[in-house]
Amino acid sequence: MATLKAVRGTRDLLPPETALWNRIEQTARQVFARYNFGEIRTPIFEDTALFARGVGEETDIVSKEMYTWEDRARAQSEKAQSLTLRPENTAGVVRAYIEHQLGEGGKLQKLYYIGPQFRRERPQKGRYRQFWQIGAEAIGPPSSGSESPLRDAEVLEMLATLLDELSIAGWRLEINSVGSAADRARYNEVLRAALEPVAPKMCADCRRRAVTNPLRVLDCKVPEDQPIIETLPKIGNSLDQESKEHFAAVLAALDAAGVPYHRNARLVRGLDYYTRTTFEFTHGGLGAQNALLGGGRYDGLSEALGGPRAPGIGFAMGLDRLVLTLEAQQRALPETIYIDTPCDAYIAPLGEAQNAPALALARELRKSGLRVEIGDGTFRLKKSLEIANKLAWRIVILGEDELKSGIVTVKNFLTGLQAKVSREELSAYLKGPVGRNPA
Ligand code: ATP
Ligand code: MG
Repeated sequence: MATLKAVRGTRDLLPPETALWNRIEQTARQVFARYNFGEIRTPIFEDTALFARGVGEETDIVSKEMYTWEDRARAQSEKAQSLTLRPENTAGVVRAYIEHQLGEGGKLQKLYYIGPQFRRERPQKGRYRQFWQIGAEAIGPPSSGSESPLRDAEVLEMLATLLDELSIAGWRLEINSVGSAADRARYNEVLRAALEPVAPKMCADCRRRAVTNPLRVLDCKVPEDQPIIETLPKIGNSLDQESKEHFAAVLAALDAAGVPYHRNARLVRGLDYYTRTTFEFTHGGLGAQNALLGGGRYDGLSEALGGPRAPGIGFAMGLDRLVLTLEAQQRALPETIYIDTPCDAYIAPLGEAQNAPALALARELRKSGLRVEIGDGTFRLKKSLEIANKLAWRIVILGEDELKSGIVTVKNFLTGLQAKVSREELSAYLKGPVGRNPA
């Protein structure tokens, strides 16, 4: 029979690597809490229309990367619903914001999420069909200050802090402004005109975008198209006074906070709903897939989804790429980011009669906070010692005599010394320094 494998573009995450994933998630949760963000968990699948409207028909995501299927209709009268595995989470968060009327009361909502996303892309290093994102959104009615450039700067400063606390060395922030919806419409016309003579020399996608959505051309990844893209007019010249001032205020706040950035006039990002500030954090160690995260302001998204006016700013960070970056750094640096740390103790029952008492002892020790592994009474002592030596600092030997007397034998693999310890003192003893001499 053919063996079954994980589907192309998906993969299993195994220990000890999952410890690094957990550490990143924990650090993110701690940082988000300090900036007063709360966690939101939205469904993994949504109505396809949400992404068509919320991400944009003309984007790569919606036009070719989504996992979509027709759900079975429950009754004859019912239409089958088109469902899609979420390719990103901002649309889901804004849908939830609208659905639960989170803007009522004029409060700014600060929400973060951690979870898997799905895109049918060509799998390669740093690019998978199921991947994980950590993201956050600050969204609210205009009266909540959600439009303020200070919010943009706060989010960017938080990201700089998070990447630093994760000890990601050498990140680079690129930033741009794509202006208001009106600025973008104006720029799109300028671009359309500029593209007319050159589009025939570009890739098939760009030839199509040049007509349907010229802005998307700037996001093209085809190397041969880059020299042409370089010659196109820049969006900065199409911004109105208000957008220019907003952008200047974001940059001034970043300067004040000491967050370094690089302006990139070509940065437009892949999603249709972005307005004003757009940004990306990149890392040189990632190769072709060099974006650690991307984000920006999306002042018109809520309305595009049928909701009230609710300006917002957010980002999505590729967790897989953070892991790759940290692993590469770890190979370069001697200090370890995760190691398969030994247990505090390995309990070795000497016979099958000691199995049940060994489990009871393990329970006691684990309840006291120790990390404990347990053997089996059918093992010979030699075998127990071999296993224990590989996965724990110490072995606790539990034979018939030890059970009767209530005094167990503890052997320390680091010092090679052995000690008799009473059961009452065992937990405290095992919590002591591994290197200490037994009394
Ligand atoms: P890229 O240009 O690399 O395709 P994108 O513009 O499609 O990225 P976003 O939709 O903004 O990316 O997603 C935010 C982040 O999520 C990216 O910066 C990246 O770190 C991560 N990401 C996106 N797609 C994938 C994928 N298929 N596999 C792993 N990580 C991904
Ligand atoms: Mg992409």
